[in-house]
Order: sequence, then C-alpha cells, then structure tokens
Amino acid sequence: MNPFVYEQLSQRVVFGAGRRVDICGEVERFGTRVFLIADGAAGRVGDELADLLGDRVCARWSEVVQHVPMELAERAVVAVNTSGADVVVCVGGGSSTGLAKAVALDCNLAVVAVPTTYAGSEQTTIYGITGERHKRVGKDPRVLPRSVIYDAELTVGLPAHVTGPSAFNALAHSVEALYAPGCNPVTSALALESVRAINRSLPTVQSNPTDLGARGELLYGAYLAGMALGATAAAFHHKICHVLGGTFNLVHADAHSVILPHAIAFTAPALPNEMARLAEALGVTPTGDPAGALWDLAAASVVPTSLADLRNQATGEPLRRADLHEAAARVVAEISSHPRPFTQADVLGLLENAYDGNRP
Ligand code: NAD
Repeated sequence: MNPFVYEQLSQRVVFGAGRRVDICGEVERFGTRVFLIADGAAGRVGDELADLLGDRVCARWSEVVQHVPMELAERAVVAVNTSGADVVVCVGGGSSTGLAKAVALDCNLAVVAVPTTYAGSEQTTIYGITGERHKRVGKDPRVLPRSVIYDAELTVGLPAHVTGPSAFNALAHSVEALYAPGCNPVTSALALESVRAINRSLPTVQSNPTDLGARGELLYGAYLAGMALGATAAAFHHKICHVLGGTFNLVHADAHSVILPHAIAFTAPALPNEMARLAEALGVTPTGDPAGALWDLAAASVVPTSLADLRNQATGEPLRRADLHEAAARVVAEISSHPRPFTQADVLGLLENAYDGNRP
C-alpha cells in the first residue's frame, strides 16, 4: 500500500431518528447563550429546536441566503456580538451552516449543527462567502461544527425537488473524493460506502419521502460524503458548479445533478481503476459505465438534468446558452490541474452537452 496522510477532524456526531432531543446537552458542552440560525423555509424544524432550547436562546436569525452574501454575513456577525451569545446553533441546509461558519470565522464561537439537507457542509472546514459575482472559498478549522446532530425525522418534510438535487450534491462529493487532491484509501472507503448508501436509498426516498429507514440511510450517505469532501478538496466537477452558482446565482444543488454525469464522462478515461470501483458502488459491473449510471439515477429522480432548466434565483431568468462561454473561461482560470488535462473548448463542450440534457 502506498504511504498517505489522513487528517482526522475533531467533531462529535450524534446520529439517529429523534436524536434532536439531545440538543441541550450538545450545546452545553460549549456555552449557555445560543444564537440560533434557522432557515425560514425550514421554519417548523427551527421552531422545534427553539422550543427544546428554551431560554438558552438569546437571539434567533432566520435570514439565510445561498452562497452566504458578504453583506448578510456582516449583519449576522453584528447581531451575534450584540446578543452576547457564546455558542451558535444552525438548523437547515448548507446555507444555514454556511452562515454559521461565516459567524464562527469572525466571532470564534463553537457551532452545533443540525443539518436537514444532504449538503454535508457540517463535516468540513470549508467556508464560502460571496462578494460581487465571485465566491471566496477558504479552509479554517474554526468553522468546523464541534458537534452535529443527524436526525432523519427532520428531513421527511424536505420537498422532493430539494431532496433529489441535495442528494446529488452529496453524491458528487463522494464521487469526486475518489480522485480529488488529498484522496487516500480512507477517503475512498468513506466515499464508496457513501455512494452505495445514496444510490440504494435515493429512489426509495423519492417514491416514499416519509420512509424513515431510507431517509436515515440517505442522511448517513450524506454524512460520509461530507467527511470525504472535508478530507480531500473540491475538484473538477465542484469547481464547475461553484463557477455556475457564483456567477449566475443558480440553486447550488441543482447544478450538481446536471453536471456530475458529464464531468465523470469527461474524467473517466484518465481513471480506469477509480471508475471500476465507482461503477461497482453504483450497482453496475466494474466494466460498466458510471457516468451513464449517474445520469440514469438523475433521470429517475426529481432533479434537473439540463442546464437550460436552471434559473437565476434573483431574477428568475434562465441560464442562457451564450453564458456558457463566460463559465468555461472562468472554469479554466480556476482549475489548475485535473487527472485528465483539458482546454476551454473541452469545458465548453461539456457544458453544452449538459445544457442540451444529453445522456453522456
Ligand atoms: P439550502 O441550505 O439553501 O437549502 C435548500 C432548500 O431547502 C432551501 O429552500 C431551504 O429553505 C430548504 N430546507 C432546508 N431544510 C428544510 C426542511 N427541513 N424542510 C423544508 N425545507 C428545508 O441548500 P443546500 O443545498 O443544503 O446547501 C447549499 C449551500 O451549501 C451552498 O451555498 C453551498 O455552497 C454550501 N455548501 C458548502 C459546503 C462546505 O463544505 N462549505 C458543502 C456543501 C454545500
């Protein structure tokens, strides 16, 4: 076996349906005055956590925006400082976690995360803050939630059109962890177990959203996906999604379900061994086609499979075919290396295929 380095992150995880009742104990490990960030759309879940925390909550924040706009993060930091909070609890998707991370970065407070999507941000030291049409991404151990509660009961109300793309976001983390910078046998084991869990549970969750067993397995797959991402780095596919999301203000997870099959189809010729293991984890033969299997899973799920279906969140305008040239140029500027070397024309071709919704 080749030598490798794996940096194990320090975090406590409480996993299980109904385990949100442990929130007070988890919080009291770090403080007594809670700044509760609870995404407005996940309001019921936020209310439930607020009830459990009782008068420990000294301030509540419900304004959450994808990709954490700089101006929003600055206002949240002022609110935290004014409230006198000594611990931050975030409930909701990656956007809630992202805002909590931006606060932790500035205020140096511990974060307790209760994720209700499959984004996996709670497992990483990665933060992202968006300024003028550009997303700044960095790594800092202070932003890693110190404790995480995974409670599948909190995910049963997640709408199908959020569940599917969010599961693909997690799947993308695991697939890319097989070859991203920093990958090693430990991250590959996490990633392959995650792919198996997501591939097995997603169809059941989409056909029966209240199936708690399947919801639990999907959340487990997403947890491992976050770990795999956290121990490696964003790679080719993720950087394409960050460029698309940051430049054109798209729903983050929707870009993942569209781009992943095309990114893997492009990458596959350079990585036959990794692709054979991925194919097996996706339930096709080792000589099978993992990109096709990913596209088929997407086509059978409630997810977009074409870039033409994605819209700017602020204006509602669809992504235009002409925008793909700017995206391809930005991707080439942002990615320094990839197992399969590429040109701007390659990226444009990949994006055009994804725009047309073709099976790769
Ligand atoms: P999100 O947090 O915006 O949530 C998606 C939607 O789900 C929102 O409308 C939200 O209101 C809704 N929602 C969440 N929980 C719900 C619930 N229980 N019931 C009903 N609705 C609910 O999106 P996301 O995909 O979870 O996260 C995306 C963000 O996370 C992006 O900004 C992305 O860059 C970031 N991210 C960061 C990392 C990292 O390591 N830093 C990793 C993955 C994603």
